[in-house]
Amino acid sequence: MTDRRGLLAAERGTLYKEAEIRVALVYPSPYRAAMSSLGYQQIYRVLHAMPGVAADRAMLPDGAGDAREARGPFVTLETGRPVGGYPMLAYSVAYELEIAGVVETLARAGVPVLAADRDARHPLVIAGGPLTFSNPAPLAPFFDLVILGEGEELIAELVGIARDVGFVRERVWAELAGRPGYFLPHVHGERVPPVAAVSDALLPARSVIATPNTELADMFLTEAARGCSRGCTYCVMRRSTNGGMRIIPRGDIIAGIPGDARRVGLVGAAVTDHPEIAAIVRDVVDAGREVGISSLRADKLDDELVGLLARGGYRTLTVAADGASERMRRVVERSTQAHHLLHSAELAAAHRLHTLKIYMMLGVPGETDADVDELVALSRELAAIHPRVAYGVAPTGPRARVPSSQELIALRRQRLAAPAA
Ligand code: SF4
Repeated sequence: MTDRRGLLAAERGTLYKEAEIRVALVYPSPYRAAMSSLGYQQIYRVLHAMPGVAADRAMLPDGAGDAREARGPFVTLETGRPVGGYPMLAYSVAYELEIAGVVETLARAGVPVLAADRDARHPLVIAGGPLTFSNPAPLAPFFDLVILGEGEELIAELVGIARDVGFVRERVWAELAGRPGYFLPHVHGERVPPVAAVSDALLPARSVIATPNTELADMFLTEAARGCSRGCTYCVMRRSTNGGMRIIPRGDIIAGIPGDARRVGLVGAAVTDHPEIAAIVRDVVDAGREVGISSLRADKLDDELVGLLARGGYRTLTVAADGASERMRRVVERSTQAHHLLHSAELAAAHRLHTLKIYMMLGVPGETDADVDELVALSRELAAIHPRVAYGVAPTGPRARVPSSQELIALRRQRLAAPAA
């Protein structure tokens, strides 16, 4: 465990600025997770770019229970000021389990946890982040307002408005009424508005701070694409969200990589769907850098790309199947097929990658034992090609912005009635 000063000393790229307005940018998980979040870093960059505004980071302390208590007052990294003393606390929430971290950090900041218990003495408390794409409703009790979806433009607009009205929540609400992209729980109730999409001119998001103290140690992250043009029924990133996939030109990606970046992470929901992905990876690897890609599609892997990934330091080839059988993959409209997975195993073996990892979803409505039997048979075939095959298995669960179980069952019936693709 490293203290505040130790964490700052190990960082490169930390932004320091004297400013009239300071916002506390709070991440409800520990530092290691926060600094692996490209969205969190992007909002940090955007706020610092505003004249007269600075953002100071605060994260859920490491450890648990007494160990967290022993870490002392809850302060921001850059200034050491108490989080509860800021006029605005801006949270980035990735998934539902982090709501426990929201509750704990608000309590540690001395701010009433429920929005209904706060008044003019307390900061404005807002949220954004990946959870707002998939399931923003559980955030409603804790936040004065929520920015939905891509937040780069709206966070700047919001901070500007809040500054103009003195961070008085009722005045902020009055200014935001009717504007798209904001969820005002006391106004909208359970009718959550659509998510926001930023101008393509603001892409790509890129790392601001590099540090060895993250899950992605010293890796410079840059978006290669945003969104996804595929249509998997269970996924919040499917093409119906924010107009599908937006591609970052190869030249822009490469030009944005700092000269001292030793490791480069290409980020996006479907990076290997980028039409120039092999050339981009080659550019990175030929410059002597390691490479990481946040998402590999099995149907996009070929000898050239996997060879480049191996040169760029890959040890595990990770793909997703997300349906136990060909039939279930058709049900959820996942384009991956068994032959793609077998080919992935061949490529991993040919390039001496240590492990082939496959993400799998079980418990999809309509799944039967026969589908799982097919998965067992496929696993045997895979294991005959590559000695180390690992599965990451997750159950399906209903999310607010994806089809419900009943809708999936209806989709399944439609698929089964239609001829096989
Ligand atoms: S390919 Fe991946 S990101 Fe795209 S819609 Fe399917 S599950 Fe979502």
